[in-house]
Order: sequence, then structure tokens, then C-alpha cells
Amino acid sequence: MPVADYATYCRMLANAANNRFAYAAINITSETTANAVLRGFAEKKSDGIIQVSTGGGEFASGLGVKSAAKGAIWLAEYVHRAAAEYPVYVALHTDHCAPKKVAGFLVPLIEETERRRAKGLTNLFNSHMFDGSELPLRENMDASVPLLERCRANEIILEVEAGVVGGEEDGVSHEGAPREKLYTTPEDMLEVYRRLSVVKGARYMFAATFGNVHGVYKPGNVQLRPSILRDGQAALRKEFGEGASFWLVFHGGSGSSPEEIRETLSYGVIKMNVDTDTQYAFTRPIADHMMKNYDGVLKIEGEVGNKKLYDPRSYLKKAEESMTARVMQAVDDLQSAGTTLFRS
Ligand SMILES: [Zn+2]
Repeated sequence: MPVADYATYCRMLANAANNRFAYAAINITSETTANAVLRGFAEKKSDGIIQVSTGGGEFASGLGVKSAAKGAIWLAEYVHRAAAEYPVYVALHTDHCAPKKVAGFLVPLIEETERRRAKGLTNLFNSHMFDGSELPLRENMDASVPLLERCRANEIILEVEAGVVGGEEDGVSHEGAPREKLYTTPEDMLEVYRRLSVVKGARYMFAATFGNVHGVYKPGNVQLRPSILRDGQAALRKEFGEGASFWLVFHGGSGSSPEEIRETLSYGVIKMNVDTDTQYAFTRPIADHMMKNYDGVLKIEGEVGNKKLYDPRSYLKKAEESMTARVMQAVDDLQSAGTTLFRS
């Protein structure tokens, strides 16, 4: 199916919220990883989200171009074509964009969608993340509101973040962040709702933090407190009425137990980002291939090696397969298997 349109994406997210499941949002950096994700969603009859980070975009554009925006555009165009071959919906999203990267990443991507819309084509991306969490909340929202207005005008959903996701992702580290910043307060959540509700008719997702971290840590190092999300949603209903709730995003989902994930679903998480675990799943069989076939992938002492073994396709197929399996596991963990809205 082609990439979901705005109405379909909104239906997907509302369906997840109403039925207490979440979509896996998997980072891609290449055609191979995109194919792995599409197949994983399709095998599980689940819709899902494919996302590109600034670093992923830059990588995809190649060392000769090194442009995060261009690489993201090219990957998205590829996904638009490839997704048409699968019987599920996917939405295209961009991951963390810090304030200093807005002009070089988010703006050109939104402009690309504006150009497409002017020609009667569908949006390039369905949603973007603006991560202003490094700013004080007021400045974060001051920067989020105009972006949300521009997104609304183009039927794009905006993801925002308050609080800080710990750990390191894409070379951005919050290792030294103050502990209290790792947990968004109910007051902050009310403020986010208050400020963004001003943009009437806009849709947004909110990454509140509850001790989650990017990357995978040894057991015991991460103190997840999903009750933060429950308390925030309850504060919202108390202040703004029964209908008030956030579409919540769970960052740093890699390494979380199924129980922890399930608890967050019951509090309104509708999207969980998975990157570290799928990165590992991709690399694991490559390591195996190289170690088992050492004599074949290398030309040792005048030998010629084995072309069948050093042809990158030989190990990238294994990597793709393994990543697909990990995507399928994420879909199961998030309880979205069999929920596709696509009807052939
Ligand atoms: Zn994140």
C-alpha cells in the first residue's frame, strides 16, 4: 500500500489509542533496512512507522553529499515506492531534530512536502519530531508552536518532547543530564497541552520522559517509572476534561521488558521507537558470517578468497532477515499484530 495519507495516519493513531496498542517506529538508514522493516510489518499484518534521524539521513546521502535532509528525502522517496508492494500502511516520520538543526533539516523537509502538495502529490513525510527538550519548557513551546502551525497547514503531525531521554543516540548524549529531567512532571505535561492546544485542529504526539534512555543498558541501570505517564494523563483529564489525552511516544524502547512496554500501552503510548535493538539484529549475523567465513571473505596469503562470501549481498541478506525478525518481535511486544487498517 502506498504510504498512509493524513486521514489514514490519524485513524491509525486513534485506533492505537482506543485499543491500547502502539506502533513500532523503526529507524532506517538504507534501502536494505527499509525493506527489512516493511516486510516485518507486512508479515505481522500490522501498520507501522518508518523513521529517519538526522544522522541516518546524512549516512543515506553518502559520504560525497553528507546532507541529512537530502538523504532523508531520498530514503522517503524510496519508501513511497517500496511500500506500495506491501499490504499494510506505513507512515514516514523523522526522529529527533534539535533546535539548531531545524533550519537545515526540518525546514527543507517541510518545504519538500509543500512542493509536492502544490503539485497535487501526497506528503513526503507524515510526521516530524522537533526535540526542544534541551531548552527551558517555555522556550521549547515557543519554538514548537510555529512549527506546529506550519505542520497543520500541510497535514503533518508534529512530535514534541519535554524532559530528557537519557543515554546516547546518533552521537547526541544526555549522559550527564540532571536526574529530575529524566522524568517529565505533571505540571510540565499540563503546560505542553495548554500551549499546543492553542493551535486549533493540529495533531501532535508527545514524548514525555519517564526514566527511559536511548541505547541498551545492563539490567538494573535503568529506572523506568511508567506511572509518570499515568499521572500526567490523569492530571490532564482533571484540568481539561475527560476527553483530554496525549498521544504518547516511548523513546529508548530497546531493551525494555514486555511487561514494562505493556504498562506504558495502558497509559496511552501509541508509538515506540526502536533503533538500538534493530541495529544489533542487523549486525549480529554479519559478525557471524565474517567469523565463520574468515578464509573466504579475506584474501589471505596470496589466496583469492571466495567471491560468494565477500559479495556484500551474501551477508546483507542475512542482516535484513534478522532485522525483519526483530521488527516482528517489536510488533508483538506492542500488540499491534493483525491490526492493519488496510483493506485490499
Ligand atoms: Zn529518541
